[in-house]
Amino acid sequence: MGKWWLVGLLYFLGSFMTEAKLTDLAEPPDWSSLDSFQKSISKQEFITQLNEVYCPRDSWWSPWIEVEKNRARIRKKNGSDEWYDLHFSESNKSANQSSCSFQISGSKILIDPGHIGGDFSVMEGRHFSIGDDKPVMEGELALSVALLVKSELERKGAEVDLTRYYNEPVTISRPKDFDDLAMSWFRKMEWLHGLSEDEKSMRIKKRKELYFYRVSEIIARSEIIRKKKPDLILCIHLNAAPWPDPEKKSLVSRNDYHVLVNGCYMGGELAYDNQRYEMIWRLLNRWDVSERFIAEHMSKAFAQNTGLPAFAYKGPNALKIGEVEGVWARNLLANRIYEAPVVFLEPYIANSEVVYQRIQLGEYSGTKIINGELRSNLILEYAESVVYGLEKALSKTE
Ligand SMILES: [Zn+2]
Repeated sequence: MGKWWLVGLLYFLGSFMTEAKLTDLAEPPDWSSLDSFQKSISKQEFITQLNEVYCPRDSWWSPWIEVEKNRARIRKKNGSDEWYDLHFSESNKSANQSSCSFQISGSKILIDPGHIGGDFSVMEGRHFSIGDDKPVMEGELALSVALLVKSELERKGAEVDLTRYYNEPVTISRPKDFDDLAMSWFRKMEWLHGLSEDEKSMRIKKRKELYFYRVSEIIARSEIIRKKKPDLILCIHLNAAPWPDPEKKSLVSRNDYHVLVNGCYMGGELAYDNQRYEMIWRLLNRWDVSERFIAEHMSKAFAQNTGLPAFAYKGPNALKIGEVEGVWARNLLANRIYEAPVVFLEPYIANSEVVYQRIQLGEYSGTKIINGELRSNLILEYAESVVYGLEKALSKTE
């Protein structure tokens, strides 16, 4: 019999070590899909893109990407020695260097109203109410804005579609479909094993819900997007501030806006095979060029139309992009896996005194005096800012 059992065991351990490391519900990446980008980017541009947009710290990317004279080597699988070789273009000028070149008329724009709303807004944590007031549901507000933006852009000749038209999920999955996944997650979370039985089942239930309303939902939307091949995706959200006291729900005075592009992949994120691939895929598509261009115009439009100050991040999870204030890069599931340039809008603090009051007033026509100023309704102001920003951006296209 000899030592065959040992060989078998080593083989088993070896295959375990090189098993793909993927985020929840992600497919293993197809690295050969990068082949069409061979020799399309210079070494200098590749490094600049990493440093200024996608991964600002060498220590975050250096375990996964080796930059040599003529090629970048990208580790295909966590824990294995398989590499994807991306050859650089020889000249410093890149082969298909893109500039943002489309107009509203004739362009395909996809609007993604953030979250689900309706019966799911409490579960997805995008719901709050104070006393007997109408509850605030981000998903429903986002859909109202998206529908207005759609009709206005269509009037200007764009082809516009939404990822959802109702306050209902796009995914056909539901939390119960993630029993096994949540259990295997729980088994790995050893520090949770000492909790009370009630607390344990609460954590598992929350995990199943998260797989449903975030992961599975965004993957379902990404599949719609893959079929539609839009020129641009606008993700519509409203921001909220942490409650000073979660028990009391007292409104905050902070109110601001910011606009996100994709980028700022941190070390722990690049350890996932799919996230590493997705970052390189976006970089090679040069989607950051259009994202930044549109985002900067959006940021200026929101500053001008709403009078709000720009929000600035402090932590390492966001990276300042360019000089225009309010434009930041973050790595979010939606702006990572949606296959097109994605501009992610985060104006207004929904639980601020002023915005809360405006949300309660609903979609009135004309203007009302709010905080001593004549304002149109919040949904309309949001939609008009988006259309104005896009018009400004695309009228300047060379
Ligand atoms: Zn949101």
